[in-house]
Amino acid sequence: MPTALELLAEEASACVGCKLATLGRTQVVFGAGDPDADLMFVGEGPGAEEDKQGLPFVGRSGQLLDRILLEELGMTRDQVFINNVVMCRPPGNRDPEADEIAACSTYLERRIELIRPKVIVTLGNFATKLLLDTKEGITKLRGRTYPFRTGVLIPTFHPAAVLRGGGEPLAQMRADFVRAKQALAAVGSDA
Ligand code: URA
Repeated sequence: MPTALELLAEEASACVGCKLATLGRTQVVFGAGDPDADLMFVGEGPGAEEDKQGLPFVGRSGQLLDRILLEELGMTRDQVFINNVVMCRPPGNRDPEADEIAACSTYLERRIELIRPKVIVTLGNFATKLLLDTKEGITKLRGRTYPFRTGVLIPTFHPAAVLRGGGEPLAQMRADFVRAKQALAAVGSDA
């Protein structure tokens, strides 16, 4: 029997809910990892490599995400769930547009509902603004832990921004991952 998450992934694979379906996507990138993960990452949207492989964060940004996850939390990507605000690659890696984000947000909501992560780390402006329902930018929002439904949300920079920005954003991202580790330990202790 397929699980509810597997059924959702199957439904998503044929999604034509927004114009990204006809703007050159190779495949829908649903998200990947542990369906019972306590920790979820939410990025922006698939890039070229993700579109090709059908998996989230498998390009350069993903390599940085994997590295910080291992170095700061001692975890690998199969122990967390990684997904994005939009499941289809925007053409030329442009930003996802408001109608595309709105159309795809029901899938993100359903993944959050089914996986029920205790800690969500949002990577960059798009995921952070969407889930915290704010217009405030990531530079202002990061650096603290927000109550989010039955758990917490920790905003940090998108790894692509860290790759561009160098030392200081990298140190800040590491600090945010340490926050996620602490939040996981805190929720683990009253489980
Ligand atoms: N950037 C994202 O936001 N998501 C991915 O899956 C890859 C790169």
